[in-house]
Amino acid sequence: MIPFDIALQTVLNNVQPSGTEKVPLNAVLGRVLASDVHSDIDMPPFNKSAVDGYACRRQDIANELDIIEIVAAGMVPQKAVTENTCTKIMTGAMIPEGADCVLMVEHTERSGENKIKFLKSDTSPNIAYVAEDVKMGSLVLEKGVLIKPEHVAVLAAVGCFEPEVSLQPKVCIISTGDELVEPYEVPGPSQIRNSNSWQLLAQAQKMFVKAEYAGIAKDDEQSTFRMINNAIETSDVVLLTGGVSMGDYDFVPDMMVKSGFEILFRTIAIQPGKPTVFGKKENKFCFGLPGNPVASYVIFEILVKPLLYKMMGHTFSPLVFSLPFAQEYKRRSSERLSVIPVSVNSDGTVSPVGYHGSAHIHALANAQGLAFIPIGKTMIAKGELADVRLI
Ligand code: AMP
Ligand code: MG
Repeated sequence: MIPFDIALQTVLNNVQPSGTEKVPLNAVLGRVLASDVHSDIDMPPFNKSAVDGYACRRQDIANELDIIEIVAAGMVPQKAVTENTCTKIMTGAMIPEGADCVLMVEHTERSGENKIKFLKSDTSPNIAYVAEDVKMGSLVLEKGVLIKPEHVAVLAAVGCFEPEVSLQPKVCIISTGDELVEPYEVPGPSQIRNSNSWQLLAQAQKMFVKAEYAGIAKDDEQSTFRMINNAIETSDVVLLTGGVSMGDYDFVPDMMVKSGFEILFRTIAIQPGKPTVFGKKENKFCFGLPGNPVASYVIFEILVKPLLYKMMGHTFSPLVFSLPFAQEYKRRSSERLSVIPVSVNSDGTVSPVGYHGSAHIHALANAQGLAFIPIGKTMIAKGELADVRLI
């Protein structure tokens, strides 16, 4: 049994990002930038008005001003502003030569035909100055950024319409277990529905990686071996669930070895998720995840996700908050790092969700975070802080 940190390091140390490709802006969400992005323009590209109003000289704002021109966004002003004149200007339009401030339209009144008066004594410039946000040639997004909608806006603004991104790993999901039936089937007396595969598929989809579900392997050596072998033909990462414990029919680790995987660890000092097997075969990886659905969920989040992101050239570092427990929490043994589903309350405290053990998927569905209880700790007192990662 190895500590979780060592398991994570083992996983990450064995992964290298693969190749890159160029993809259009409408398909970059969730991809990882494979090269730095620089701006091809100044932003803003010209001094522009931040408000609807009248562009004029600050020294004239106490006087009546003559309107000499109207400039809408997208127009180039034709006239320079001079003493006691102003240009009526719209938000986003180019500031005319000679003007150094814009009077907000709400703070002015018409004082005659084509004349205005400012009703206040002072104004801020209300100008967005050329290059104040970004200078031409400067770095706007770094290699390794996981692209979110706000990054897409930056890419669009700097004309990077086909960014270079890392290739996505292909994930293949297999469940094992003679007791499993699919969601569209009614379980018989000794059967349960397969929820792990569909949960894992959704977890992978949420990361925008390519994932496919291959089906259920029978609890026998041939079926497990055949499905692992087929999966590595077409995918980079194989995720199996179940069949990794000490039962008579837990064939996954042996069949991983038979398929050519070198096993790098078999058990982790974590709860849930102790029986987690990780193997490597050249640039392919295989996880034997626990059969229990909460364990399978947790191990994907904290171990598989960092691997998939690293394969995409991204360092996964989720925000971890130090949050107080709303009530006392006790556990019987403290030999393993415990990961417990918690709900986050509006006062910033967390409450463990009613949880009967690692098969209790309803509890997980009500959680908003995972709290980490370190090895050696059997109790968290009311108000005591624990590390919590939002899910
Ligand atoms: P195992 O590791 O195969 O002994 O499985 C541990 C527990 O998880 C057993 O109670 C299984 O029935 C359950 N389990 C295994 N695979 C799945 C699955 N795909 N969906 C839901 N529960 C599962
Ligand atoms: Mg099983």
